[in-house]
Amino acid sequence: MGQFQYPTPPLAIYPEDVIAHHRSYIARRRKLRPSEEYRDLTPDEWNEFITHFELRKVALGVCTRDYGTPCVHEHACVRCPALRPDPDQRDRLEEITANLQARIEEAQARGCRGEVAGLEATLAAAQGKLKTMRELLQRHGPTHLGMPNFGPSAGRRM
Ligand code: SF4
Repeated sequence: MGQFQYPTPPLAIYPEDVIAHHRSYIARRRKLRPSEEYRDLTPDEWNEFITHFELRKVALGVCTRDYGTPCVHEHACVRCPALRPDPDQRDRLEEITANLQARIEEAQARGCRGEVAGLEATLAAAQGKLKTMRELLQRHGPTHLGMPNFGPSAGRRM
């Protein structure tokens, strides 16, 4: 009869192990990269980095285009998929939507069908972003749990 062997216990992963492995991985990767990439930033580079993020703030929210890239959509943020709408700007976007509707009616009355098509595309995009703003507000709004009823536990009847 062979001797009983206890099964090997599973390895415990502690946060320190994970951190140590991550650090050694980063150190190994850094040795493979040119050291020039790990120098300190110059004040001009840091300033340019900060300025890029300041320029992302637009009237209806935040522009999410890639770092270091210019706006390729001619700042037509209402129609742009790179705009992350800010729910606090809902009133502003509702005003823009009402204005677009008035301009569509005017263009229709003047028979400018090309203008109508462009404005309708912008209106559809604006309505889509309004919907997103409402959804964001609902998601981050307060959750009403109702009033707690301590009557039964206090021995009271309703
Ligand atoms: S149009 Fe698009 S890419 Fe350009 S600033 Fe507005 S959100 Fe950014």
